[in-house]
Amino acid sequence: MFETLSKATLDKIFVLMAEYAADPRTDKIDLGVGVYKDETGNTPIMSAVRKAEKRMNETARTKTYVGVVGNRGFSSAVVDLALGGVVDAGRIRTVNGNGGTGALMVLAHVLGRARPGGRIYISDPSWPNHWPLVEAAGLVPHSYPYFDPRTRQVDFGAMMGVLDGLTPDDIVLLHGCCHNPTGASLSPEQWDTIAASLARTGAFPLIDLAYLGFGDGIEADAYGTRRVVAAVPEAMVAFSASKNFGLYRERAGVAIAIARNAADADIVSSQMQNVLRASISQTPDHGAEIVRIILGDAALRAEWEAELTAMRERMKRLREKLAEAIRQRSNATDFDFLARHTGMFSLLGLPEDVVARLKVDDGVYMINDSRINVAGIPEDRIGELADRLLAAVG
Ligand code: PMP
Repeated sequence: MFETLSKATLDKIFVLMAEYAADPRTDKIDLGVGVYKDETGNTPIMSAVRKAEKRMNETARTKTYVGVVGNRGFSSAVVDLALGGVVDAGRIRTVNGNGGTGALMVLAHVLGRARPGGRIYISDPSWPNHWPLVEAAGLVPHSYPYFDPRTRQVDFGAMMGVLDGLTPDDIVLLHGCCHNPTGASLSPEQWDTIAASLARTGAFPLIDLAYLGFGDGIEADAYGTRRVVAAVPEAMVAFSASKNFGLYRERAGVAIAIARNAADADIVSSQMQNVLRASISQTPDHGAEIVRIILGDAALRAEWEAELTAMRERMKRLREKLAEAIRQRSNATDFDFLARHTGMFSLLGLPEDVVARLKVDDGVYMINDSRINVAGIPEDRIGELADRLLAAVG
């Protein structure tokens, strides 16, 4: 059987993680892996999560199946959080996903059934999973320009050059906020333009919302998603609770479909359930129930929001401090974009040989496209990191 197979390419991030772990240098710096880290380098369990989990464990009476659509209380709380009531609930249907990726997978498969071989436009660059995920769903990925490596900001003119030419048969995959891998996010005015363009062309938006609350706050980060779903008759949103609730391994996510009317919504719902049933059958509930408890309890919700704010502010501070340290040392504003980017990532725009040198010579690890995780910046060694970066770019 297996003789027909050849080795599949594994995500380079896993290789990088292993190299970092094996590096004996005590002053090594990990800017690679995409999880939030606190000042001790730990990815913490949020205190609101611990409390909700305790409550859940004390009151739960069963571990029986939840049902194929998953935890409805979790889904509706997430819909309220992400969409803020801009779409009539009668047009919305949800299923839980195995994390945000699982939600995206369900939505992509439904789109693959609706438009077999259909074109889906993905930002260049994007999260590396996007291409294989949509291909597995029978869609054909194309890219649209997004990042200008010169300014390290969004090349909005080039992006709209493609989006404005789309047709009602096309799908466009948008990052809701905190664009991974670039960190260059869209402004509210740019979202307005995108929403108007989609309403005009009829292209179908699929929004990947994996970092709500990591950029400028929940409301500000939800702006683009809300603007788009309010402007078009049909859309989909994949929500992930991995980052903003720190629930990575619990795999909590929601696949949200918005249809023209309730009858269409029921059809889409049956398709989402069918995709789930034919693949993983049911989704995990542990993280979903924790989020449901937090969002449904005023005190826990306030505690969660405060913790999320602290994480966001820490990342902002690290961005500003690193940009400032580089400015002081080099008298140049080349790295000021770090402070303008949002979320956990920034694409530094460095060539691969410089990224390799930083790893080999300086013990500074980042993804080879030069994406850094700003939460990995050691706050007490920012000067040292600035020196190493400046030396490497020469
Ligand atoms: N979309 C994007 C853009 C991401 O970066 C991630 C996580 N790396 C996800 C979706 C999904 O995360 P998860 O499946 O862990 O919820």
